[in-house]
Amino acid sequence: MALRNIRKEGDPILNKKCKEVTEMTARNRELIEDMIDTMYEANGVGLAAPQVGVLKRIVVIDVSEEGDSPIVLINPVITEADGEQTGPEGCLSVPGKSGVVTRANHVKVKALDIDMQPFELEGTELLARAVQHELDHLEGVLYTSKVEGDLMSAEENADEGE
Ligand code: ZN
Repeated sequence: MALRNIRKEGDPILNKKCKEVTEMTARNRELIEDMIDTMYEANGVGLAAPQVGVLKRIVVIDVSEEGDSPIVLINPVITEADGEQTGPEGCLSVPGKSGVVTRANHVKVKALDIDMQPFELEGTELLARAVQHELDHLEGVLYTSKVEGDLMSAEENADEGE
């Protein structure tokens, strides 16, 4: 298991647009494994590659109770988004804070898996929120730019960082 350093808000890499992944190399595979380890170690429900300093379109998400079902999305694109949910959100790159963000309540995404095979993912509620939050990271966007009202201190939501 290899943990990577999570970049924090203020690090310019978090505001850059990520590049598409064109092939699955040993280096990319190791990056993905490290991202999953790093997400679990930080008790997060999602992590995007720029959060560990790599400008590639890769995210990992796990919203399961057990934390044993990581989803890997490579070059993800949202193909459908509808409904609306408004609720607290946090980010591993903005530790100790949370803020209220309105997102679509249902999304469909197309992406490549770790073997570069295309698949579709559909999710609602927390999964839909995590997908939209992580995909924003690939565009260099932090949730703090979408918060309604003030950023709050986040003890209660400490386990929902993305
Ligand atoms: Zn985040």
